[in-house]
Amino acid sequence: MELFNLAGRVALVTGGNGGIGLGIARGLAAAGARLVIAGRNAAKNRAALDALSAEGAAAIAVEADVTQEADCLALVARTVERFGRLDILVNNAGTTIRKPPETFTLAEWNGLLAANLTSAFLCSNAAYPEMVRAGGGKIIAIGSMMSLFGAPFAAPYAATKGGIVQMTKSLATAWAKDNIQANSILPGWIDTDLTVGARQQVDGLHEKVLAGTPAGRWGVPADLAGTAVFLASAASDFVTGTAIPVDGGFSAQA
Ligand code: NDP
Repeated sequence: MELFNLAGRVALVTGGNGGIGLGIARGLAAAGARLVIAGRNAAKNRAALDALSAEGAAAIAVEADVTQEADCLALVARTVERFGRLDILVNNAGTTIRKPPETFTLAEWNGLLAANLTSAFLCSNAAYPEMVRAGGGKIIAIGSMMSLFGAPFAAPYAATKGGIVQMTKSLATAWAKDNIQANSILPGWIDTDLTVGARQQVDGLHEKVLAGTPAGRWGVPADLAGTAVFLASAASDFVTGTAIPVDGGFSAQA
């Protein structure tokens, strides 16, 4: 359908070498976008690129640490060098540490802020001039249920994910004049490398997620693809500053 067609568009997905990022990358590629996926781990980059290429995507993988401003700038430069433009940025890279707030060191706090929040700020600013040059763009940030709720094991993570939503609203208001739409997706509990750890570290989490999710299952990375395509496409041209839960109803249930 033309409204959702991403042919001719170029998307950069941070953390696109696995989990939710790869699920989104697959969705964008299926809608016609050319792709740049970025992560620190060269082997994961290679494996994800092989999978995307085998599925027919026009894609490259770039090694980058998005906590570093120089890497974010280089990532955008490489995207434009390879594909000539940048239309869609997915700020997806992120990580967590699960433990009580009083046990976090300052270095751990700063590390999570850098990985989950500063990274999105740096990549958005790096992408901005190219989106202006392209006549507009789409920024999609990955928040979390922790953008809405707290948890005893997630103080810094929840701070970053609340920050993602508020920063994205601000980008939306600042850059609407440039025809750039910025929105967040708030995934529920999705089965990825990140949550394999959570199931081991948080007692009873698996059952709690099943009980708290009206859909009655964990999500999978492919569940995020449809909303990402919507937010990356002309279908969402009058949608900006929102945060859309993709959570099987988790946030709707008291
Ligand atoms: P994964 O651990 O599978 O993926 C994380 C991705 O981020 C990897 O591709 C990793 O690549 C990349 N990454 C992490 N740090 C950096 C960095 N400094 N520079 C570049 N890339 C980095 O987890 P998910 O797919 O689950 O998580 C993706 C996003 O979704 C995160 O922001 C997470 O907070 C969020 N999320 C996840 C939920 C879930 O239930 N799984 C729920 C809500 C939100 P590499 O290791 O190669 O650097």
